Amino acid sequence: MAEGEPWQRELRGAFTRPAELLTSLGLDPALADRTAARSFPFLVPRGFASLMTPGDPADPLLRQVLPRAEEGRDHPGFTPDPVGDRQARRAPGLLAKYPGRALLVVTGACALHCRYCFRRHFPYDRESLIHDRDHIALSAIAQDPTIREVILSGGDPLMLDDENLRALWHRLEALGQLRRLRLHSRLLVVLPSRVTPALIDLFTTRRLPLAIVIHANHPRELSGEVRETLARLKRTGATLLNQSVLLRGVNDDPDCLAELSESLFATGVLPYYLHLLDPVAGAAHFEVADAEAREILAGLRTLLPGYLVPKLVREIAGASSKVPLV
Ligand SMILES: *Cc1c(COP(=O)(O)O)cnc(C)c1O
Ligand code: SF4
Repeated sequence: MAEGEPWQRELRGAFTRPAELLTSLGLDPALADRTAARSFPFLVPRGFASLMTPGDPADPLLRQVLPRAEEGRDHPGFTPDPVGDRQARRAPGLLAKYPGRALLVVTGACALHCRYCFRRHFPYDRESLIHDRDHIALSAIAQDPTIREVILSGGDPLMLDDENLRALWHRLEALGQLRRLRLHSRLLVVLPSRVTPALIDLFTTRRLPLAIVIHANHPRELSGEVRETLARLKRTGATLLNQSVLLRGVNDDPDCLAELSESLFATGVLPYYLHLLDPVAGAAHFEVADAEAREILAGLRTLLPGYLVPKLVREIAGASSKVPLV
């Protein structure tokens, strides 16, 4: 039954070969690099692809997913685990880096493969909660009363079907120590059909306050369908936030980021973080240097009220919070 959900069918129909997407956009299939596509597989839902501009090889949405030859080149400082996830592992699928919060790698799967992803080399298959049949991660949380907030992350936690998500949710809500839950998901933007009536019901009937952090990098990602979906989520009473990554050739420009913040706000979402790129091997072509990032943010501040300016932060392995750049 769950097999037949529209979002699952849509996902099965996603582009898995770069040449297919490029051809559908009227572009040369040779723009994609085969070796890169083997090291981190290609995956793009058709709805997201439909927001790309045909004939534009520099399209900011295409750039986020296109495997390029540069990915294979070594860059000093770009490593497989730039954010220290391996050291932060407390139990299978449980990362605890910051006081009070614990992050659950619910599943390694995503609906879209972002080439800049800092988890592109993470051993998802072994390190996700779906393999934690004995609930070791949840026991570890229960044994640490300092954890007040659990973040459902991944991969993308909404790759779980409604039934499994509900089961996990209820196990978490049974932990009396928790004051709130948080969900980090890019699916809400790249596969809005994931927001089923059952998901809305789960969010509406929850016991704990909920923050939903979506991930959009460019204003064009917020299609009519996405905005309508965000409005439905907003009506569940959840707090909606957005995180972006500052990406060369995608959103490295104050006007673009201002438009993103304004579109987000118009659908009830506040900008939260603008992350500096994590120096993960294969992503150096997305890097924006610190000095330029500061300038972009200064430009953004002149365009927007303070509450629409995201916090520019970097993740540093071993630090006890995200580190602001300014
Ligand atoms: C980013 C992150 C968090 C969340 O940090 P906030 O500043 O609370 O948004 C929590 N745990 C891990 C492991 C993270 O990487
Ligand atoms: S959706 Fe998030 S976790 Fe998945 S590939 Fe993109 S950045 Fe990485």
